[in-house]
This record gives sequence, C-alpha cells and structure tokens, in this order.
Amino acid sequence: MTREIYCCGCSDKVPARLTDGAEIYPHRRDLSALPFWKCDTCGNHVGCHHKTSHPTTPLGCIPTPEIKSARQHIHRILDPIWKKGRMTRRAVYAEVAERLGRKDYHTANIRSVDEARQVYRIVKEIGAQV
Ligand SMILES: [Zn+2]
Repeated sequence: MTREIYCCGCSDKVPARLTDGAEIYPHRRDLSALPFWKCDTCGNHVGCHHKTSHPTTPLGCIPTPEIKSARQHIHRILDPIWKKGRMTRRAVYAEVAERLGRKDYHTANIRSVDEARQVYRIVKEIGAQV
C-alpha cells in the first residue's frame, strides 16, 4: 500500500510505503505492531495517528532526522507555554499560525530546517510575552 506524502528528505511528494515498527525500529518490540509510512528513496519515515479511528493517517510530512529533532526542540519550548495555563493550547497554535501568516499551524507539518527556525523564533517571542 502506498500513499502520497510530502517527504522532507526528497523535497517532494513521494509514494510512501505503509510498513510497521518491526521494520522501522527492529530493536523496539513495543513498537513492532505500529504503522509507519516510509519513503524508500531516502529511507525516512513518519508515524501515524494510530490511536484514532484512522490508524494509518500519517502524523504529518516525512521528516529528516534533522527536522525531527528541530520539531522536538520546538515542542520543548512550545508545550510549557500552554501547560503553564496562561494560554490554551489552541490559542498558542493559532498565534503561531497568525505570526507565520497562515491559516493553521502543526509542528508535524514543518518541512524544512529554515521553517523550523522561523517557528522557533516565533514560539520564543510568544513565550516571552505570556
Ligand atoms: Zn524521501
């Protein structure tokens, strides 16, 4: 089974292949049954919303390891903003989207390191204001 997903490593939409954690993380038995979409051109992959009623819906685009760590970095500064409770999670995401000049924002949809840097700057600004 394949599905068109944007791949950050290939900078294009690719026919990603549905596979499982046994292939992606052979040493993680706990993940072996989970679904993943893999780009066979560059070898990168993305997980799925596996706890939902659409368990093979990808979490976002397929990140490179670099973009994946940039996203985690963003979560580390973004999550405390709404966890402190001065802004709701929804409001924080709406604010990031607005400052990016977009309709919505999802960390899982970040496609490049440049984009991650831009988001990081915005999140830092918001964090300094709340
Ligand atoms: Zn790729």
